[in-house]
Amino acid sequence: MRLVLLGPPGAGKGTQAAVLSRELGVPHISTGDLFRKNMGEETELGLEAKSYVSAGKLVPDEVTNKMVRDRLGDADAREGFLLDGFPRTLNQADVLEGMLDELGEELDAVLSFEVDEDVVVERMLARGRDDDNEDVIRHRLEVYRDETAPLLQRYRDVVVTVAAAGEVEEISARALAALAPKQA
Ligand code: AMP
Repeated sequence: MRLVLLGPPGAGKGTQAAVLSRELGVPHISTGDLFRKNMGEETELGLEAKSYVSAGKLVPDEVTNKMVRDRLGDADAREGFLLDGFPRTLNQADVLEGMLDELGEELDAVLSFEVDEDVVVERMLARGRDDDNEDVIRHRLEVYRDETAPLLQRYRDVVVTVAAAGEVEEISARALAALAPKQA
């Protein structure tokens, strides 16, 4: 299965991605995790990304797209993947489409995690990541509204909506049920 997870920061995409990756047997590819790993290891990519990630801004597309292209080229992603945090802009969606076209593949579904803004702010403040202070959170939500939410329209033919409030297990069960028709 080739899946994209969409939803505002703090919607629980990362948590759900880990569960779904296990259940569906496809690698969880999180651009946020890849950036944080590179920042921790102080690689060139990490140093390039750092100022953007810390400010809650999008890392420039050319940096992000190359990182994703490299990762999707790994052997474990050949039969499927679950993208968490990519694409986040229309340009990134174009680039992803180009990569899939080259492989003769397409997305099976785009899962959209829907949750109220006050719930996501509360969740993000509770997890306490470096880029989780209130100003940065507010900025990330704005970026989501302006740059990423338009992707829902672009992907409307393959979007599957999941209500993302409640317990982790409940939400995973909903997501798996919503994907069941796509797994034929
Ligand atoms: P996340 O873990 O998905 O919330 O991502 C954390 C941060 O990594 C974001 O606020 C951005 O700074 C950066 N980032 C993650 N994915 C992307 C992407 N697709 N495009 C640009 N920046 C990204």
